[in-house]
Amino acid sequence: LDPTGDNLSPQEIDLEKKLRPLSFDDFTGQDQALENLQIFVQAANLREEALDHTLFHGPPGLGKTTLAHILAHELEVGIKVTSGPVLDKPGDLAGLLTNLEDRDVLFIDEIHRLSPIVEEYLYSAMEDYKIDIMIETGPNARTVQINLNPFTLIGATTRSGLLTAPMRARFGISSRLQYYTTELLTSIVQRSSGILNIPISMEAAIEIAGRSRGTPRIANALLRRVRDFAQIKGNGKIDIEISKFALKALNVDAFGLDEMDNKILTTLIDKFKGGPVGISTIATAVSESPETIEEVYEPFLIQQGFIVRTPRGREVTEAAYRHLGKTKQGTQGG
Ligand code: ATP
Repeated sequence: LDPTGDNLSPQEIDLEKKLRPLSFDDFTGQDQALENLQIFVQAANLREEALDHTLFHGPPGLGKTTLAHILAHELEVGIKVTSGPVLDKPGDLAGLLTNLEDRDVLFIDEIHRLSPIVEEYLYSAMEDYKIDIMIETGPNARTVQINLNPFTLIGATTRSGLLTAPMRARFGISSRLQYYTTELLTSIVQRSSGILNIPISMEAAIEIAGRSRGTPRIANALLRRVRDFAQIKGNGKIDIEISKFALKALNVDAFGLDEMDNKILTTLIDKFKGGPVGISTIATAVSESPETIEEVYEPFLIQQGFIVRTPRGREVTEAAYRHLGKTKQGTQGG
């Protein structure tokens, strides 16, 4: 149950694609962002211009990639997909940029991980649709400027704080994706079970949704795992009993916190008297990278009110003690 989707098998990647909403109408939630995007797309279509460069930021699995594809679909243009770490040198980017047709979308995932030299190369492309390319080598080497077709760069990042100011300034549209409510996730679970032909009760859909860390990717992953239990241990239908049984076996607790979430809270309480503790100390204690803690785990724990950020570090809240059945001294409570 990896919210980042980094460790999905090829089969699971195929399934994710199958479940991916394709148009604005298909997409659930993120109402405010969506309303604005719809207007910007309509206006761009009306003027037959490229949509302004757009940045999506927020925790993994909330729909950044999905929205990039939807924008291309609604703009009725092509999309080329790449990611920050893959673009090694300006040449890699030049190849992509020169192949874009009028108004096409270039989607760069993990845009905060572009190398500074590639990033700088991107600036003039974004600003004036122009790039310099080096032709010939040796004494004849020279650069020529070439014009690109107007295009839309869509960047996605889990760490908007790591974007440089000049990069950020070049996005006309910037949208922060929010965690989904249980209600929204319930309709996503129902939609997905419809596509996958899995019979599911309303109660079960709510149960799965409520334990999905506010994240559609997790909701879909849980649905598939619960289906396995329903087919092997039940009668193939997903009802509330089999859902509860499966979710317990999968170690997902009532709030949807997963093992790492709980490990972070337990560690904070047991080893650090509830904090405040710095992020790198927490990371070492739970054997995870500080980046992953900050990008993936902490935002949800903060949103759910289990952790607060203070100037001296992270601190657990009363709610965390209650959730884990612990008292302030770190002893077992009711
Ligand atoms: P990452 O940052 O890890 O790349 P992401 O934010 O780009 O994640 P997506 O890949 O767009 O997330 O979404 C993950 C999965 O969740 C997709 O397979 C998609 O089917 C589903 N999903 C995301 N948002 C929605 C939504 N609003 N409605 C229905 N399904 C959604």
